[in-house]
Amino acid sequence: MAGGSYEEAIAALTKLLSEKADLGGVAAAKIKQLTAELDTATANGSTPFNPDERIRTGFAHFKNEKYQKNPELYGELAKGQSPKFMVFACSDSRVCPSHILDFNPGEAFVVRNIANMVPPYDKTKYSGTGAAIEYAVLHLKVENIVVIGHSCCGGIKGLMSIPDDGTTASEFIEHWVQICTPAKSKVKTEANTLEFSEQCTSCEKEAVNVSLGNLLTYRFVRDAVVKKTLALKGAHYNFVKGTFELWDLDLKISNSVSV
Ligand SMILES: [Zn+2]
Repeated sequence: MAGGSYEEAIAALTKLLSEKADLGGVAAAKIKQLTAELDTATANGSTPFNPDERIRTGFAHFKNEKYQKNPELYGELAKGQSPKFMVFACSDSRVCPSHILDFNPGEAFVVRNIANMVPPYDKTKYSGTGAAIEYAVLHLKVENIVVIGHSCCGGIKGLMSIPDDGTTASEFIEHWVQICTPAKSKVKTEANTLEFSEQCTSCEKEAVNVSLGNLLTYRFVRDAVVKKTLALKGAHYNFVKGTFELWDLDLKISNSVSV
């Protein structure tokens, strides 16, 4: 289903579910299969995964071990936040910035998306990202924006895999990652002798530089950078090697990658 309102989506789902209900035989077979899987899991001594239970025990652990042991910190955070960092990180489940940089609650205002990209200023297409940057810079007055790329990034691999004729197969993904097409072009021009996986690694870092350049398309970011109240930093986390690179915005690079 492309587009459509919330009500249309609910109606479509209801229709799908009622059609599925008619497929009695198929449903019965599925239930039989699930029961068999459950029996096997129980026989193996493993407990089937229960998402609700995982969430409840996770919160209980956090509350007992962190929240209740740090009344001072959580008491302050109850009054407000003043993070020093805004962080852009990939949605990839392996690269949570609070984990890898040991941020406490209140330290980093985070945006996560496919391939940690900052789109250029566009009130219509990218209002979600624009709102987050505006809030972080003008209201929270963060002192640093850090864009963190990472190893084995599926989004960057997707960008590097788009054929030259521009053919795409996804509804959103390829359109989104093309925000960093200038990084892909740079790598294809300057590093085309490298193997594909190395080109992807190079693009993971160049895409961060494109995002740093794109940050400068937001007037309030430019103003804060000029006033030196805000620093823009790039980074790359390699979870295969366990390394983390950090660099400052290079204006020479950002000038050449404007979208
Ligand atoms: Zn990624």
